[in-house]
Amino acid sequence: MSEAIPIGRFAPSPSGPLHFGSLVCALASYLDMKRQGGKWLVRMEDIDPPRKVKGASDHILKQLEAHGLLWDDEVLYQSNRLDNYAEIVDDLKKQDFAYNCECSRKRITELNGIYDGHCRPLNLSIQGNGTRLHLKPSQQPIEFTDQIIGHYSQHLDTQVGDFIVRRRDGLFSYQLAVTVDDHFQGITHIMRGSDLLDSTPRQIYLQKILGYSQPQYAHLPVANNELGQKLSKQNLAAGLPYGQEAINLWVALDWLKQSPPNELRQLTIGHILTWAVDHWDQTQVPAKLTLTAPEGF
Ligand code: GLU
Ligand code: ZN
Repeated sequence: MSEAIPIGRFAPSPSGPLHFGSLVCALASYLDMKRQGGKWLVRMEDIDPPRKVKGASDHILKQLEAHGLLWDDEVLYQSNRLDNYAEIVDDLKKQDFAYNCECSRKRITELNGIYDGHCRPLNLSIQGNGTRLHLKPSQQPIEFTDQIIGHYSQHLDTQVGDFIVRRRDGLFSYQLAVTVDDHFQGITHIMRGSDLLDSTPRQIYLQKILGYSQPQYAHLPVANNELGQKLSKQNLAAGLPYGQEAINLWVALDWLKQSPPNELRQLTIGHILTWAVDHWDQTQVPAKLTLTAPEGF
């Protein structure tokens, strides 16, 4: 059998402009694929209308282009995939893997977020209920080897509980959509922020149920501000500074401990990216969950 070509992706949620933390994820996954002669795709995770910011998708794509991070194939918008998710949720229900749940958010919060299976035996069929994935009893822990962090293990039943695949308001969950689309796009390598490390076992569990193959995972340190908070729209992280794309790339490479030479700062983004692909070394990326963002970002 011939080796399939590696396919990676960057999957931003369009809730604001690209900031330093998201640039790092885009850049690292891009370099990882280009180094291996693979493809790098972009997918807009735009299925959460309340969090969606008008114009953010286009803005993010322009910022990627400005940094020379050009994607292969067309951008996939999750908002065009709702029928596919609905079909899969229906299948999961038919196969008894998923069930309707009418518990309030308040009740779930009181359970400390870990669902107790209350609605599992009730066979609710009323419209407007959420849908949870039933974790079949006596689960083994889900284990995998992260390419950066190392061994990771999670007991879904005690640490997560039956989890939401479709919300009461009809929105599909991140866990469902990301798993379905990583498979749909043939993704073999997932490199993203460590804030999603503890989501990975849920995605692996879904892959098992749906008969998908399991991609390789590598979780990067999340960039924190001086207060120790993740750079994000909520924490008012600044968008990347304009007109200094070469510097942004250089600083991101330095932060990822790729040791970019100083002279590189003066060169064009094309030169910087060529150097970075040639010298990409994943083993140098700090195996840390968080790191402080560089000054000025
Ligand atoms: N859309 C998710 C986010 O921006 C990332 C999804 C992923 O990389 O799995 O946090
Ligand atoms: Zn319930």
